[in-house]
Amino acid sequence: MNTKYLLTPGPVELPAEVLRAGARPLIGHRCPAFSELFTSIEKMLQELLKSEGPVIILPSSGTGALECMAVNFLEKGDKFISISCGVFGNRFREIALRTGAEGINIDVEFGESVTPKIAADAVKNNPGCKVLMITHNETSTAVVNPIKEIIAAIPEKDRPLIFVDGVSSVGAMECFPQEWGIDVLGTASQKGLLTPPGLGLVWLSEKAWKALDGKICPSYSYDLKLHKKELEAKSPANPFTPPVSLYYALEAALSEILERGTDIWFNSHRKYADALAAGLEAMGFDLLAKNKEARSSGVTAFKYPGGDTEAVRKKLRAMGIETAGGQGKLKGILIRVAHYNNWGWPELCIILGSLYGAAGMAQTLKKDFLAEAWNVWNKED
Ligand code: PMP
Repeated sequence: MNTKYLLTPGPVELPAEVLRAGARPLIGHRCPAFSELFTSIEKMLQELLKSEGPVIILPSSGTGALECMAVNFLEKGDKFISISCGVFGNRFREIALRTGAEGINIDVEFGESVTPKIAADAVKNNPGCKVLMITHNETSTAVVNPIKEIIAAIPEKDRPLIFVDGVSSVGAMECFPQEWGIDVLGTASQKGLLTPPGLGLVWLSEKAWKALDGKICPSYSYDLKLHKKELEAKSPANPFTPPVSLYYALEAALSEILERGTDIWFNSHRKYADALAAGLEAMGFDLLAKNKEARSSGVTAFKYPGGDTEAVRKKLRAMGIETAGGQGKLKGILIRVAHYNNWGWPELCIILGSLYGAAGMAQTLKKDFLAEAWNVWNKED
């Protein structure tokens, strides 16, 4: 059976306009039409992030964006603090270690979020670190970290450069790097930005751009200063051949989000996640993140106590619904479903109803799961 509903946390179901935009005839990447396209995307990204300055766009996945951040700033002799609460936090630190820099690891239980105190203590106890790296939305556990509060808890004078992995947050929830004090933010096209996979995006604070003065990036294609120079030229361009079709798709996706209005967009994702959680819990699933505040609005992760999660995922697949399983130490015991797109009550019913069938819950169910979900969905904002 072909996939009818792609619920994996990237790539995600895309609006038809985005798919159509990606199929437009190609243009040359050194022609005025491409400069216009690039400029329009830059303006929209700045609006989405409520931040000034260029957003560097790389032909890469999210991992490439994170690698770009690491290779531009870190080198042998540097130290960084890595706070991880899941598989992607762990990967970010592995990427950084490849530069030869030394990492100080702080680990938070999978399913829990990083608190401002953990981050503030890590900085206080480890002076002289160049970078603190943290994941905004930990996709492997569906937990969101309170980045704004975390940064605010670190005294400005002691702050290392704050690196944030926003691969699965940007586009779906508030992520305002300039306002929050993020120095380097990396993200990717295929989740909250509702675009096919293939673009990595990196934003830098003024402090971060200054920190690159005089440095030579060991990677040519990931050299942020090289990208910035071309982007800020009279006719904005990419130093190398860009995936033009993905730029078209990204432009259409950003228009969709911004036309709706970011507040409305972010709130609708929150509401969907809350209603989904209520329905899942009423059915007897256990959400991995116990703390409601820590639950992501882009992806939900849950366990099936006493049941075989992989068998449920298989049955869902047979119905045309593709979900993600657990990763790392959560392999085999989690189901993860994403909700990055503009979904409403009908889609929520499809997911809950299909799970009801796939998990064979007719005999055991004690609560009316749809009523529980509807009560949350329908409550006044
Ligand atoms: N960081 C996070 C938080 C992610 O969710 C992902 C992808 N799931 C990545 C990094 C890696 O991105 P990619 O697979 O696009 O390289």
